Amino acid sequence: MTDCIFCKIAAGEIPSRKVYEDEDILAFHDIKPAAPVHFLIIPKKHIPTLADVGENDIPVMGKIMAVAGKLAKQEGCHDGFRTIVNTGRVGCQEVYHVHIHILGGDKPLGLMLGK
Ligand code: 5GP
Ligand code: ZN
Repeated sequence: MTDCIFCKIAAGEIPSRKVYEDEDILAFHDIKPAAPVHFLIIPKKHIPTLADVGENDIPVMGKIMAVAGKLAKQEGCHDGFRTIVNTGRVGCQEVYHVHIHILGGDKPLGLMLGK
């Protein structure tokens, strides 16, 4: 996808602060952190949203979930963290290349959706 900012980050065409990379996935710090630790994990393959994930994507999406905890700990989330996947208009997704947010730090983040 030529127009996708996260495809460009995955291809190294736009710089990012990398947390982890392998042949299938990339983790990098969010440019506008919403918590002391805030990074994103993406498949290198362009998949627009979680709603577009199909059977063929199970291995790569599983890999993302499998590394999330290890990377969170490595980045300083020693007592838990939050994962968010914003999806589509209602989910207020900004970048249409599926990504999982990992948010954390030392202090509790507050309740979901500000309630
Ligand atoms: P969304 O609302 O789609 O779930 O989140 C997109 C996230 O991507 C936002 O938190 C935003 O700060 C982050 N982001 C947008 N553009 C860039 C970029 O060029 N580099 C990095 N590292 N993060 C970005
Ligand atoms: Zn993309």
